[in-house]
Amino acid sequence: MAEKTIVVLGAGVGGLVAARELRKRLGMEHRVVLVDRRDIHVFSPSLLWLMLGWRRPEQLYRDLNALGRKGIDFKHTPVEGIDLAERRVDTGLGPLHYDYLVLSLGAELVPDAVPGLKDAGHTFYHLDGALRLREALEVFQGGSVAVVVASTPFQCPPAPYEASLLLDYYFRRRGLRDRVEMRLYTPEPRPIPIAAAEVGQAVAGMLEQRRIAYHPGHRITGVSPEDRALSFENGEEAGCDLLIAVPPHQPPPVAREAGLLDGQPWAPVDRLTMKTKFENVYAIGDMALVATAGPLPLPKAGVFAHAQAQVVAKNIAGEIRGRAVGNEFDGRGFCFLETGYGKAALASGDFFAEPAPALKLRRPARLWHGAKILFEQWWLRWWF
Ligand SMILES: Cc1cc2nc3c(=O)[nH]c(=O)nc-3n(C[C@H](O)[C@H](O)[C@H](O)COP(=O)(O)OP(=O)(O)OC[C@H]3O[C@@H](n4cnc5c(N)ncnc54)[C@H](O)[C@@H]3O)c2cc1C
Repeated sequence: MAEKTIVVLGAGVGGLVAARELRKRLGMEHRVVLVDRRDIHVFSPSLLWLMLGWRRPEQLYRDLNALGRKGIDFKHTPVEGIDLAERRVDTGLGPLHYDYLVLSLGAELVPDAVPGLKDAGHTFYHLDGALRLREALEVFQGGSVAVVVASTPFQCPPAPYEASLLLDYYFRRRGLRDRVEMRLYTPEPRPIPIAAAEVGQAVAGMLEQRRIAYHPGHRITGVSPEDRALSFENGEEAGCDLLIAVPPHQPPPVAREAGLLDGQPWAPVDRLTMKTKFENVYAIGDMALVATAGPLPLPKAGVFAHAQAQVVAKNIAGEIRGRAVGNEFDGRGFCFLETGYGKAALASGDFFAEPAPALKLRRPARLWHGAKILFEQWWLRWWF
């Protein structure tokens, strides 16, 4: 068995799992290289708790350099280019040649795509943003709060709904709720539109019950940085005192430049194996375009990146070791939707179901909130 080099790009959810699973399944004669421009891995679901001061930052990230102990060659450096014909990745530390390439570079946040958004708005979609938002919330004494989804698709479709419900609970606990007017704007036609209309109605019902005004079908076109006046494509305008945005997302530029998008908005893959059309090259997680039976592709969520990484790692290791390689991603997933009061709802289902994805929403319960805490603790211990 000749020695192989497997290069994994991105040490977020998909890349971390792929590298760890490959290392577990392959002898040390094979190299597993993991590349990321950051040297920490952040557990994103906890950013919501961080923004409310329920977590300290160091509780939700881990040092990627620690993966050296597990036999993974971690390179803290940006990926600058990918030459698929030459089987080479160019990084800030020089070229890396691969036999197999697993891309899990995520989705890039581009707040600048909406004029004024970056300067006028906060976001909880990354660590620094969530920390700055926490500071802003600490001094907030009342006024109007607008949670704005700038465009679709975006990571974790329940997250803006979850954030709004948690903010409502946070303001109540601080005795401020009567002084806060809350609104949620999104271009989506309803919450979690990949699910059946009942699921969306249930989530919209939760917002209504908590006095959060819901404005679907609203695509933001600009914000005036001076007074945070929001403009929407439908001609409506609205002011707010605190703007919290889910910024626009785009595929990683290096993937586009390498030709991995093939004219599509995200990197197309075989939905069962995550293979791209390039030999021995796989794309997983948020950057991948995975078809469902419905009009919308698979949502961008860590639970899928995790499962896809396991499938890809098993198949690559199997191929190298001359064993079976028939593992397939099954399109199943779940997501907790925190609602405050120590409770969470649970959305779960089969996204590859025919004729349309089949999802269920379980009522908010303490059980699911507890399960989310256990999942967080497990994630940060298990992989590091
Ligand atoms: C607030 C929030 C809450 C969420 N909650 C949930 C949840 O409850 N459940 C769930 O399933 N999902 C959730 N998600 C979504 C989940 O975090 C993502 O879907 C998941 O991280 C995707 O994994 P990935 O490996 O595709 O990308 P990522 O985890 O984003 O990793 C991509 C990595 O690539 C690196 N990278 C990118 N470009 C380069 C480059 N040029 N050079 C070097 N490195 C590069 C990045 O630094 C990053 O580390 C949430 C996301 C957010 C923001």
